[in-house]
Amino acid sequence: MDTKQFEALLQEDRRFAPPPAFAAAANVSDNSLYEQAARDREGFWAAQAERLHWFKRWDRVLEWNPPFAQWFVGGKLNVAYNCLDRHLETPTRTKAAIIWEGEPGEERVLTYLDLHREVCRFANVLRQMGVGKGDRVTIYLPMIPEAAVAMLACTRIGAIHSVVFGGFSAESLRDRINDSRSKVVITADGGWRRGNIIRMKQIVNEAIVDCPSVEKVVVVKRIGHESLVEHGWHPGRDAWYHTLMRNAPLTCPVEEMDAEDPLFILYTSGSTGKPKGVLHTTGGYLTQVAATTKYVFDLKDSDVYWCTADIGWITGHSYVVYGPLANGATTLMYEGAPDYPDRGRFWEIVEKYRVNIFYTAPTAIRSFMRWGEGWPAKYDLSSLRLLGTVGEPINPEAWMWYHKNIGRERCPIVDTWWQTETGAIMCTPLPGVTETKPGSATRPFPGIEMAIVNEKGEKVPQGSGGYLVVTSPWPAMLRTVWGDPARYTATYFAKFGESTYFTGDGAKWDDEGYFWIIGRVDDVINVSGHRIGTMEVESALVDHPMVAEAAVIGRTHAVKGQAIAAFVTLKEGRRGTPDLADELKQHVATKIGALARPEEIYFTADLPKTRSGKIMRRLLRDIAEGRALGDTTTLADPAVVAQLREQYEAKE
Ligand code: ATP
Ligand code: MG
Repeated sequence: MDTKQFEALLQEDRRFAPPPAFAAAANVSDNSLYEQAARDREGFWAAQAERLHWFKRWDRVLEWNPPFAQWFVGGKLNVAYNCLDRHLETPTRTKAAIIWEGEPGEERVLTYLDLHREVCRFANVLRQMGVGKGDRVTIYLPMIPEAAVAMLACTRIGAIHSVVFGGFSAESLRDRINDSRSKVVITADGGWRRGNIIRMKQIVNEAIVDCPSVEKVVVVKRIGHESLVEHGWHPGRDAWYHTLMRNAPLTCPVEEMDAEDPLFILYTSGSTGKPKGVLHTTGGYLTQVAATTKYVFDLKDSDVYWCTADIGWITGHSYVVYGPLANGATTLMYEGAPDYPDRGRFWEIVEKYRVNIFYTAPTAIRSFMRWGEGWPAKYDLSSLRLLGTVGEPINPEAWMWYHKNIGRERCPIVDTWWQTETGAIMCTPLPGVTETKPGSATRPFPGIEMAIVNEKGEKVPQGSGGYLVVTSPWPAMLRTVWGDPARYTATYFAKFGESTYFTGDGAKWDDEGYFWIIGRVDDVINVSGHRIGTMEVESALVDHPMVAEAAVIGRTHAVKGQAIAAFVTLKEGRRGTPDLADELKQHVATKIGALARPEEIYFTADLPKTRSGKIMRRLLRDIAEGRALGDTTTLADPAVVAQLREQYEAKE
């Protein structure tokens, strides 16, 4: 990429200073953290680590043998101890740790004391099964409190968990169990999704036919229908969670883990290709996750905090479970879909539990936009004081919609850029400090060093774009790709050398040094030698009042190199006509320039997305080029792609 490729980036001049009342009460309201980290980066992270409980203090903060980092070398700690035990010595002990709402409407509240007891019992269950330090355990559960219990129980005894999103198929589950060689699988009889039952135990049965490492399957009774378990129950292998828990002791000593002992494996969401088993370790991960939760979400003791991510994703690990609990916060978990029984469900939950902090993904925000502002308008959202977003670049119009209709122009928005591999938030506003601009993740978190570089790895000047890199190791960075260290080096540390982490994303920075992430570099389009970010064209389309969502790709073109094709989803009740297609093309040309004018526009009811809700542009490229589809195992709904292909071919 050259440095001038993003000249067409939308000019965004709206900006939002932290509301004065918010800033006055914020955990951070000045530049002191940035200054402290700039003076002494390792000292800054050591100070963050001090806020955890260590059985033994570290000898050295950082050992960096590029591309391998070790943080808090020689230190000993335990994640479950930090998330639970230490809070039992404070008034937090009787506070709600998890507030849970099931899709059909059940409610459960677990205090820190309750959660500690459940985790101890389940840790004993695992130990009795012969699970010990370093063994792998696959967790395939719906969003129920037992998912957090299972994760914490693993960390208590030093087992490495691998959480697999409950919507994955038997085949995807099998690949992940085999890659991690898990000894135990924890699942449920079933899970609710939009009123339907996902037969999870049955999926596990199918998966583990080919999984020789699996010795035991623990089954949580979530639904309770006999028919879900009447076939394929193997008495020597399968056992009910509640039966095992009944006899388990209430206390369980913690395993003192080395700071660099593995904590969990998590497979990436697969937007670009075959998922990678990202390995995170103990001390650095918890340090950065705890610090970012406190500062980025301005977390206070009295807050009800809700991150809508599923625990099957890194966001669910770091910001539903570990970050909030390490801070002694109240974390809300909701089991189901945002549109069940109706499209007001999320706002009903915010109103019901008086949620203060709400963290979701652009894909969800675009759905809310499509459903219309009437839904949130029906609810009392006055408890909200901070909003967050993560997962994809947020189109400025979606940001504005969120600000207006959910934040009611009162709440700061933190647009947080990070990845499965980074473990924790990397680039983000601090809500009491940073002036935000819709669509920008603003600046690296204190103690994080990021840059935008050209093909040769040289830093590009402000006002231009290139590859987004991290230039020094950070505490929560992945340590390797499970079972494939060569892939670790090749994927992240080959392009710019062993000291520079390549994120795979493209970005630009503006003349104030703000970062604008424009998506994966593989998605960048080259029209007649000009490079255009898909994000820019998509944002211009979403800026049109009838458009809800858009995905843009480059298709081979004899003259231009690539031509832009746009797949567009309209807002409720709108119909795609040839006139509207022309209007949209013109709209893009006006907003960005004639160069970015889409050659083709396809109206579609849905876009192909990963199960975590990200648009899979590579599949759209495959369709547009008439190629066989690449890896589709992480696709949320295969029917969408089949339909698009038909539609596309009919038009050709
Ligand atoms: P895979 O690596 O398997 O292809 P993935 O990259 O989608 O899948 P994740 O680790 O879940 O898996 O997602 C991280 C990516 O999500 C980032 O690299 C970036 O492209 C995108 N992303 C996350 N947060 C933001 C954000 N705030 N702004 C822009 N992009 C974001
Ligand atoms: Mg990725």
